[in-house]
Amino acid sequence: MTRVSRLVDVVVIGGGVIGSAAAWRLAARGRTVVLLEQFEQGHHRGASHGTSRIYRQAYDGQFYTALAARTLPLWRRLEETTGSRVLELTGAVDHGLPTAVHAKAKALYQLGIAHSVLTPAEAQRRWHGIRFDTTVLHHPDAGRLHADRSVTALQQAAAQAGADVRHTTPVRTVRASDRGVEIVLDTEVITARHVVVAAGAWTRTVLGGLTGGTAPHLPALRTTQEQPAHFVPFTDAQWPSFVHHRGAELDGEGIYGLGSVDGIKIGEHGTGPHVEPDSRSFVADPDGVRRLVDYARTWLPGVDAESARVDTCLYTTTPDSNFVVDRAGAVTVAAGFSGHGFKFAPAIGELVADLADGTATSPEPFRFGTRQPAVAS
Ligand SMILES: Cc1cc2nc3c(=O)[nH]c(=O)nc-3n(C[C@H](O)[C@H](O)[C@H](O)COP(=O)(O)OP(=O)(O)OC[C@H]3O[C@@H](n4cnc5c(N)ncnc54)[C@H](O)[C@@H]3O)c2cc1C
Repeated sequence: MTRVSRLVDVVVIGGGVIGSAAAWRLAARGRTVVLLEQFEQGHHRGASHGTSRIYRQAYDGQFYTALAARTLPLWRRLEETTGSRVLELTGAVDHGLPTAVHAKAKALYQLGIAHSVLTPAEAQRRWHGIRFDTTVLHHPDAGRLHADRSVTALQQAAAQAGADVRHTTPVRTVRASDRGVEIVLDTEVITARHVVVAAGAWTRTVLGGLTGGTAPHLPALRTTQEQPAHFVPFTDAQWPSFVHHRGAELDGEGIYGLGSVDGIKIGEHGTGPHVEPDSRSFVADPDGVRRLVDYARTWLPGVDAESARVDTCLYTTTPDSNFVVDRAGAVTVAAGFSGHGFKFAPAIGELVADLADGTATSPEPFRFGTRQPAVAS
């Protein structure tokens, strides 16, 4: 039998890092919030699992750089609220293609964010595990987030603030109603004044029941299966997070990496095959693994290149790699985090709460609608 529940202020669909952050910030404002996640806590089928994500402030241009800087105190507030340590500052280095490195140095300079520019020899003396052959940008207010611990802490903070956090609760349909929206579950229908859809690769499916004027006009969202690898380091020295930008010696989109409790993680940015989230293989592409091993052999003298352990994870990417965080009527969508959204989650949660409350409009890069060529992260 289907149960019809009381009217709530906001239902958040998606218990990844973004939905969990949105639920926290909405509940902290006193809204009645239900957070619904289709899978079990800590599942590996979306984008937010594992032990590490890069937190860094260096981006091309001021928009994301300023947003990343604003997010740091929110991660610290989450730690104070829950007593869980999620962010470790280890610093970050950018090297490789000089134009990419200089664009990031410029944004840090313009915003007054501490940074330094080092020669390859200076960088090599400081970080023995990485090989450098170009100018290196270092900024200290960067490092690594513990991904699983962050999601758990965000859900804990949401629950502490009064949110009803439910796992293994798939949403079957979202439909318009005269009081806002109805969220149809297997045995219950929840009526809400507002719904936040933070469903990652499943976003279009979740929105499928909204028709006509109630459906947000999303840009294209492309889902790919990515495959970072972890390598065993030779020493337990601390590693910075790093991005090696594509240049003369390095093809493709470049490589990111960082230290983690599982070893030194490296990955290519957004090179994986297109997949559907419910029918993907979870099997890594052997050519991609070989490229990462070759990279480790050449550029990471501090790791055992034969020790690769590979994981898979989803990117949901917009045409220009800008996120989609915007509102249409009773529906706010937070999706398309394009392989670089984790670090911003608490600030996105705050923006989602502003949009749902009607106290802010979406910044131009995050709006539904036409998209420009890709931003570099
Ligand atoms: C390999 C890899 C490395 C990355 N590295 C970095 C990094 O270093 N730094 C960084 O900032 N970002 C990084 N990212 C990106 C970042 O992890 C993602 O942008 C972020 O996790 C996206 O979170 P999300 O909540 O939007 O999506 P998800 O984590 O996928 O969450 C969406 C959730 O919605 C749930 N859902 C879907 N449909 C329903 C339904 N019908 N009912 C209920 N629940 C539903 C899903 O089960 C899922 O749990 C990386 C991503 C990958 C894959």
